Amino acid sequence: MTRSRPDPRDRLPDGRLATLAALAAGAEPDGETADSTDGDDTDDGRLLAEPSPFTGEPLRPVSAATEGDVAHAVERARAAQPEWADRPLSDRTAVLDRVATLVLDRRRALCDLVQAETGKEREGADTEVWDAAANANYYATKAPELLASTRRAGAIPGVTRATEHRHPVGVVGLVTPWNYPLTLVVSDALPALVAGNAVVIKPAEATPYTALAARELLLDAGVPRDCVQVVPGRGETAGETLVERADFVGFTGSTEVGRKVAATAGRRLVDASLELGGKNPMVVLDDADVDAAVRGAVAGCFANAGQLCVSIERVYVDEAVYEEFRDAFVAATRAQTLGVDFSYDHDVGSLVGPEQLDRVRSAVDDAVDDGATVLTGGRHRPDVGPYVYEPTLLEGVDDDAAIVQTETFGPVVTLHPVAGDEEAVERANDTPYGLHASVWTGDATRGERVARRIDAGTVSVNDAYVSAYGAVDAPMGGRGDSGLGRRHGRDGIRKYTEAQTVAVSRAGSLSLPSPPLRGVAARLSSAALRANIALSRLARRLPFGGGRR
Ligand code: NAD
Repeated sequence: MTRSRPDPRDRLPDGRLATLAALAAGAEPDGETADSTDGDDTDDGRLLAEPSPFTGEPLRPVSAATEGDVAHAVERARAAQPEWADRPLSDRTAVLDRVATLVLDRRRALCDLVQAETGKEREGADTEVWDAAANANYYATKAPELLASTRRAGAIPGVTRATEHRHPVGVVGLVTPWNYPLTLVVSDALPALVAGNAVVIKPAEATPYTALAARELLLDAGVPRDCVQVVPGRGETAGETLVERADFVGFTGSTEVGRKVAATAGRRLVDASLELGGKNPMVVLDDADVDAAVRGAVAGCFANAGQLCVSIERVYVDEAVYEEFRDAFVAATRAQTLGVDFSYDHDVGSLVGPEQLDRVRSAVDDAVDDGATVLTGGRHRPDVGPYVYEPTLLEGVDDDAAIVQTETFGPVVTLHPVAGDEEAVERANDTPYGLHASVWTGDATRGERVARRIDAGTVSVNDAYVSAYGAVDAPMGGRGDSGLGRRHGRDGIRKYTEAQTVAVSRAGSLSLPSPPLRGVAARLSSAALRANIALSRLARRLPFGGGRR
């Protein structure tokens, strides 16, 4: 593994630091500024001061929202939301249209901020900008169709009619992780906003400034001030209060915290979407193009140093091509360049911080204790950056080992030979997660067939994950321990609305008449229903009927 930039002073060159400082100062919530940067306030929870992976030092501490601050933010959002919802939909889609342009206009500054808070490679920061712009454009275009009131079949055709309307839920609370701090704020807030909701966002402790910069951008695009608010703070205080008060909770984060959020939402009888962790398998079939699969594995395992919900952490390779694949994957992994700066020169960046470094280090150490062989990597690289860990490939570990069953969320992958498609599918499905998978084959039809048998909310064929995640028109989300609900497409906006059916009878009250006609009416309505069932059955048998697929 090559190291590209030896001088740590290059990591935050002065000009870029000044830009970040200005952005940070301008982006404090509602003009409040952190009045102290000495360590004491961080100890009692008043300030957030996570270290930047560029330097190991905090960028600039930010005030941590208290329970009262969050409650106040939700109240203000609740007061402002009806006026926003009453505006014509075209006003709100115009705001999204401006967001799409503004995100691209501010690409450089946003990427700087994302990198300085997360330590990810430059290309990874760029993908956040593209994703935000693509979602803005998609929902600006599609919202009118996806939110339109829709005629439904009436109880008695011709006599009654039913219409389904979509109403905003009110205040959407978004609790977000640090790994994609721009896209998981902007791209999830946009469909909620265009549907007429106000949004209150609790970003991860490590990435408050990206969320605050995202809010500035949404305000500049025309979202009313109180309709989008950011409450940087801690999970157990600010996060829990938001979950206690929002009308819908959009949570993205770990399975462990997701269960707590679901329990609170369930007790309150509010809806929640839970986008949680994964232990995503890659399946390489015997007819796969091995070089292409290796390129896909490198992209799918090491983007954002493996801190990606759809990252590949387990690779099942048909034994016919196992050795060829393994040797090429080891060589390609060793060729990855590591670095932490604003250039496009590096393939792999840093882990987000010291806790994540400990988590990855102990996962690899435990795997080795469980009998794993380290094919390459397996070392912390403080010479490159304080939290940099080498891309690591492991072999020879049992399916029930923790490294195979539990999300590592780092650049660590286990390799497993398998005897054919059946075994590959069975072992790919052998974890409690079900977020994403990829299948590699020379025959796309075979690939789709295998893909449909994998227990995952999305599966990419002959691609690591971009084909699935980038399909903004198609639902994205997890099964099992990977969560509930979907983002993107129709599901990604409808979840922020409540359905209301308004049914109108043209024949007055449809209740049965009084005796003695009641018996006759009951027999007549049974006969009518029987005729209707027979007609439906016939229609399903016709070549263009609903029974055919
Ligand atoms: P995390 O669960 O520790 O934190 C996520 C957010 O929840 C943070 O804002 C945190 O402050 C907040 N939080 C913590 N405790 C809380 C509580 N009791 N009540 C309310 N909020 C609370 O996760 P993380 O470490 O920030 O993110 C990494 C995880 O996120 C990984 O498991 C990853 O797979 C997952 N993730 C999933 C997706 C997806 O789309 N499925 C996308 C990105 C990340």
